[in-house]
Amino acid sequence: MRDLAEAAELVTSLALLRDPAAYRPWREPALTPDQRAELDHAARAERAERVADAPGEHTDAARPEILDALSGVLWRAESLAWHLSRAAWCPVLPLAAADADPRPYLARAVSVLPTAVTGWQNGTEIAWWAADEAAAMLADLAATLGLMTDGQHLRLVCPWCGGRTEQVPTGGAWTWRVRHLPGDLVAIVCEGGMCEPPSKDVGTWWRGCPAWPLAEWEWLARRIERNERMAS
Ligand SMILES: [Zn+2]
Repeated sequence: MRDLAEAAELVTSLALLRDPAAYRPWREPALTPDQRAELDHAARAERAERVADAPGEHTDAARPEILDALSGVLWRAESLAWHLSRAAWCPVLPLAAADADPRPYLARAVSVLPTAVTGWQNGTEIAWWAADEAAAMLADLAATLGLMTDGQHLRLVCPWCGGRTEQVPTGGAWTWRVRHLPGDLVAIVCEGGMCEPPSKDVGTWWRGCPAWPLAEWEWLARRIERNERMAS
C-alpha cells in the first residue's frame, strides 16, 4: 500500500516532465508496429529539430520514455484495481482511456486491498501478487525519473519570473531545470537568475535560485495549470 501511494506521487512528477507543449495522449491506443515505428521516427525527427535550435541542450529527448512509463503504470494500475475490486466484491472502475490518470486506479487498489486479502483463503497469494505489481510500478517510475532528471529543461514558463532573464528581459524563456541536488534531493530549479517568488511559494533555495523538491511538484503542477487558465 505504501508503494502504491508513492507511485501515485511519482506519477504526478513524471506527468510534469512530459512535454506540456505537446498535448497528446500518454500513448495512442492500439498501435501497430508500423504506427509505432512511424511515431518513433517522428519523435526522433522532432528531437533532431530541437537540437538544431538549441545547440548543446538535450531538452526533452526522453519524452517517449516518459510516455511509455506513464502508460505502463496506467496499465498495471488498471489491472490491479480490477482484480482487487473483483476479489473484494466491489464494482470495478470504468476502463481507462489511453491518456487517463492512473491515480484513481491506484487509490482504488489501495482501498480494496485489505478486503481482497482477508476475504479469501489464499489471501496471502493475493497480497504477494499485489505487492509485486506495486513494486514493479514503483521501480519503473523511479528508473524513468532517475534517467531523465539530470539537468533536463522543462518546456514551461515559470509563473513567478515569467521566464525573464538577463538575456531575455522580455520573458518567455524556459528557465526551469530538473536537478539532482546534494542530499539526494530531486528538485525543479528556476535558473533564470531573476526569480524571486515570495517565501510562501518557495521554501528551498539552491545557489540563489528558487528550488521545488519532488514532494512539491503536484502543487507546482496545479499552480502552472491555474496560471495557464488565467492567461488563456
Ligand atoms: Zn522563475
